[in-house]
Amino acid sequence: MSDIEIKAAAHSPSKAEVEVNDDTIFVDTLRCTGCWTCALACMTGNKLKDGEFFVQVRTLGSGEGIDRPAGTWPNLHMSWMPVYSKSCIKCKDRTAEGKLPYCVQDCPNKALAFGKDAVEKMEAARKRGARIYELPSWEKSKEHVVYASADRKIL
Ligand code: SF4
Ligand code: SF4
Repeated sequence: MSDIEIKAAAHSPSKAEVEVNDDTIFVDTLRCTGCWTCALACMTGNKLKDGEFFVQVRTLGSGEGIDRPAGTWPNLHMSWMPVYSKSCIKCKDRTAEGKLPYCVQDCPNKALAFGKDAVEKMEAARKRGARIYELPSWEKSKEHVVYASADRKIL
């Protein structure tokens, strides 16, 4: 456990308990536009095969694939979340040198944060009223990836 590890549940508006480590990736879904830059940055930076992904971007919409909204016209809505697979190595070689993971570094919307920055961004999201959560174990996704919902209190 590092000194930046915190139990977030104590302050959380949700009941979910979230543990933050010094290699935690934080995803603010309010900022994610589903552009897939994170996935492509990882593929290029880590020299993966074409079409091999350590992170893929899921559309939260109709459930029928990429960029398919939920609802009926004109009340359509969707959002996105990058989902990290177990293959993700959290760019250990880079982070050991103080660099950011490729996906975090290249996200054009600052939807991703790593390490201490992740803690700060998570607290900011909590203050705006977002739900803070991790994916359930049956998703078999990478550990220590924390999400903030797109919720925002109207102040
Ligand atoms: S996390 Fe960033 S790079 Fe990835 S899809 Fe969302 S906005 Fe694009
Ligand atoms: S942390 Fe590194 S290995 Fe994991 S998805 Fe991001 S770029 Fe790829």
